[in-house]
Amino acid sequence: MQTRIPRETGDGATPPRNGPLALAIHGGAWQIPDDEAEAHNDGMRAALEAGRRVLEAGGSAVDAVTAAIVPLEQDPTFDAGIGSILNTAGEVEMDASVMDGFAMRAGAVTCVKTVESPVRLARALLERGRHVFLAGDGAHEAARLLGLPMVDPAHFIVERERRRLEEILADARFRVPDPFDHPGAKDDPLFVPRLCHGGPAGAPTGVGDDRDEDAAIDRSIRPAPGGTVGAVARDREGRLAAATSTGGAPGKWPGRIGDSPVIGAGTYADDEWGACSATGWGEAILRAALASTAVRRLQSGREPQPDRGAHRDAGRKVDRDADAPGDLVHPALAARAAIGWFQRRVGGLGGIILLDRTGRIGWAFNTPRMSRAAWVEGAGEPVIAIDP
Ligand code: ASP
Repeated sequence: MQTRIPRETGDGATPPRNGPLALAIHGGAWQIPDDEAEAHNDGMRAALEAGRRVLEAGGSAVDAVTAAIVPLEQDPTFDAGIGSILNTAGEVEMDASVMDGFAMRAGAVTCVKTVESPVRLARALLERGRHVFLAGDGAHEAARLLGLPMVDPAHFIVERERRRLEEILADARFRVPDPFDHPGAKDDPLFVPRLCHGGPAGAPTGVGDDRDEDAAIDRSIRPAPGGTVGAVARDREGRLAAATSTGGAPGKWPGRIGDSPVIGAGTYADDEWGACSATGWGEAILRAALASTAVRRLQSGREPQPDRGAHRDAGRKVDRDADAPGDLVHPALAARAAIGWFQRRVGGLGGIILLDRTGRIGWAFNTPRMSRAAWVEGAGEPVIAIDP
């Protein structure tokens, strides 16, 4: 039997039967300095408002994640667009990706130098459908053909990053600075990071649990503080999307590609389960295919519940039983499981935001901080936080 998704908009207090609008955003992990905390929170608030406006006006999840990321690319606080880190040649090379969990479409760009908004270019590729992933000059040419605003590469460079690069180049032993401002970590060559998980009101939370000696990190590998941005959203029709945008990791070589533009690693969405955006040490996230791994961790192993809210589109049937997600693990727990595994198997450091198909949100990170924001329709005030 075909059941239509109700289109009623609700008033924000009574989410429709098929689940609420939902939006989560991150502004990067690592040791965000205290004097940047407020700017991070302000950026998260602005991004949340931009994405929420789209969702409340009936826009799609793909539009909402794009709208949330664009102001963050313009905010020099974050390592995306203006404020991106510089590669060792002193250039900004940006990466971005967007995935639509409804049709499993995706668009991604890497090594972009002159496109004002890399996430808008990724979004445009998703719409076009001809290519999923374009690099460098090919991406620039596509942006020109699509009529997207182009800028001089200097547009993205800020003084903070010029100074950071000078310090990196002056230090012959630099790999990446120590992200752990943790007293116990200083003399411990095999430091075990704290794994934190949580979500908006009602989500399971935990700080520093799951310490597992087998998951000790080799501290000679030290990824740097970042400010990559990402978003996940659920729209009125129950469609999910995810997006990520970054300038990459400090000390990176020209041409280095991290996880953020790679579908399945930095960004993933599948309406049947959930959507995820990652941040952190890109080389480890790539090897773990972290975003898709986290989405799969939402599956409890139980059979999907009876089809009480399914719809059919383009011959595809998607279960949307928002009332009894018995086949789903809470995203906060799935995120914790994914980050725990990521730390144990690849020595990974980073964080994720994770949304399930019913609109529940969770996050987990094993860095000292992760800048994040979340809003679920009808579930009270948005959450904006940096600390565990
Ligand atoms: N994951 C990003 C990269 O490796 C950096 C970050 O999220 O901090 O390019």
